[in-house]
Amino acid sequence: MTENTESTESQFETGTVVYDPVSDNVGEYRGKAGPYALLRPLGGGREWEARPETLRPASPGERLSAAVRAANSRSFQGQREPASPVPVRDCAACADLAALRDDARARHDGSAETDADVLLRRHQLRYHAALLGLREYALVPDASAGAEYETACTECPAGSGARPGPADVEEWQRGHTRETGHTRYRRTVADYAVLASR
Ligand SMILES: [Zn+2]
Ligand SMILES: [Zn+2]
Repeated sequence: MTENTESTESQFETGTVVYDPVSDNVGEYRGKAGPYALLRPLGGGREWEARPETLRPASPGERLSAAVRAANSRSFQGQREPASPVPVRDCAACADLAALRDDARARHDGSAETDADVLLRRHQLRYHAALLGLREYALVPDASAGAEYETACTECPAGSGARPGPADVEEWQRGHTRETGHTRYRRTVADYAVLASR
């Protein structure tokens, strides 16, 4: 960046994912533009100007659900999605994701519920497309990114960060509970896939 930065030192490194409370949105910090901070939506799109003093680094949960939303809007390009998918019998992955979804619903956590539905639908497109008659798209795992499991304490800002498996996340939770006595967590799972027309 070649702009003149006399007293406008950047508060975040470029690329930091931050939460903007004014727009209630998560974005990637791109630098300063005059008195404003320039933020870009995760997954691309039009940048917006935010008030720098209100920004803070996004929590793991906020980062993850913004990434899932971005991946979802890329994949489905704004198409209206059907109602909650039904788990396929005897599929452990379906059962896990449906349990996450039901758990979120029981907690009245609408955004976690949507995330779980997105993941369940994507999993079903990938593994049960023929069985369920889902033939319009082929989903392939994104080779550049594996699945991520993450948990965030809802009683303090601590979070596990993205981890490769659910067991790693549980281990982190047990440690955090031992250290702090905190017992409530928001757990998320994300995978990355590329959706292509057949
Ligand atoms: Zn399944
Ligand atoms: Zn905590």
